[in-house]
Amino acid sequence: MQYRSTRGRAPVLEFEDVLLTGLARDGGLYVPHEWPLIPQDEIEALVGEPYVEAAIRVMAPFVTPSLSRDELGDLVEAAYGAFDHAAVVPLSQLDGGDWLLELYHGPTLAFKDVALQLLGRLFDHVLAKRGEKITIVGATSGDTGSAAIEACRDKDTIEIFMLHPKGRVSEVQRRQMTTVLSSNVHNIAVEGSFDDCQAMVKEMFNDHAFRDALKLSAVNSINWARVMAQIVYYFTAAVALGGPQRKVAFAVPTGNFGDVYAGYAAARMGLPIAQLVVATNINDILDRALKAGEYARGEVAATISPSMDIQVSSNFERLLFDLYDHRGDRVCALMDEFSAHGRLHIGAAELDKARGLFDSERVSEAETLATIASVYAKTGKLIDPHTAVGIAAGHACRRYSSVPLVTLATAHPAKFPDAVEQAARVRPALPQKLSDLLEREERYEVLPNDLAAVKDHISRKLGVQVSAS
Ligand SMILES: *Cc1c(COP(=O)(O)O)cnc(C)c1O
Repeated sequence: MQYRSTRGRAPVLEFEDVLLTGLARDGGLYVPHEWPLIPQDEIEALVGEPYVEAAIRVMAPFVTPSLSRDELGDLVEAAYGAFDHAAVVPLSQLDGGDWLLELYHGPTLAFKDVALQLLGRLFDHVLAKRGEKITIVGATSGDTGSAAIEACRDKDTIEIFMLHPKGRVSEVQRRQMTTVLSSNVHNIAVEGSFDDCQAMVKEMFNDHAFRDALKLSAVNSINWARVMAQIVYYFTAAVALGGPQRKVAFAVPTGNFGDVYAGYAAARMGLPIAQLVVATNINDILDRALKAGEYARGEVAATISPSMDIQVSSNFERLLFDLYDHRGDRVCALMDEFSAHGRLHIGAAELDKARGLFDSERVSEAETLATIASVYAKTGKLIDPHTAVGIAAGHACRRYSSVPLVTLATAHPAKFPDAVEQAARVRPALPQKLSDLLEREERYEVLPNDLAAVKDHISRKLGVQVSAS
């Protein structure tokens, strides 16, 4: 498979280079040159297959010829062997036609493990083959940091530095990062905000001398391989509920538009999907875009579903590319408009096209809490606030009562115990594997909110001398 940039001005690449490159040189995102179609009889043949088999079938067209089927198979098997549930991503029933797809059985209890457990192994495999090493630098407000650290720990080809704002992530989230004592994992608590951390990471990538000397790389959600790994569970959930003969609808709690875009990709590959519900919290840029056709940046507000507190959804550009018939020049013009004015206007025809599959809803904090409470009262099941946003939005815009509705459960309730307890009056317990998390030894450096100090720390750790630029 070859990949091109959504802005049409970057080199065409094979999978291996797309994996290592992340963002395209023209500022766009890489997308596959065409959507590989999986014939209906082959989708049917996935019924009853283990998750690993389905993953190989769905992802093989995207990685050929960079990886052989056997290479992919070994990596997939190792990645999903790290999950706690035999089904990897089990479905559970809430009510007649209402289902939860539990994506939180990985090492850090959030759906990001599904993609990152594979991504870490893909990086390691490709780098070892090339005899290269990289340094991953990232900033996190919680979930991404721990999932990335778990994915990269103990890999000889990777050093990972993760910046978090000191005292501003929950204790569980901090400890999930800082209790990983592997020698290639470096946690930095910055005396500043998440935005300060993110700005420093951006500056490091913009300092080309520093970037090249340290071979900086990123594992953020615009990496195509993350989207690719998420396509798989739309297939496995749909066939478990009667697909491809029967259509299935999905409700997806959304921040960066990565997870729900993977559902769109599954539909383009031939999976019969009746409806994709884009579920946002009060940070509702995507709901406004799909309802009014105006994609406009807003102020970020802190919520009880913090992993969706985003007002610019990077992966939305990938959908625009399809809506505008793969016209890189049109996408470029739209994104230029967005960076200049903080807003872009989606054409009427393009918006209609999107609405064929997508619906959207914004869910308030009160509705989120009420949903956690009512699901607990009706089913005895505790859900996390992100999942609750998905359920509430799914119910608000369900189109067909006879079609099964699957809500993606993106985090384990014990990751957000305060909100869950506030709503359901029950405090969710950490699963067995993390039950001693609060007693484990931690290791992290505290650094001032100062770019030079952080860069100096990282280069000294790596033993690399960087001339000032
Ligand atoms: C990251 C995250 C989301 C949002 O996923 P996107 O792919 O950014 O839309 C939702 N829920 C949880 C728990 C997350 O960690």
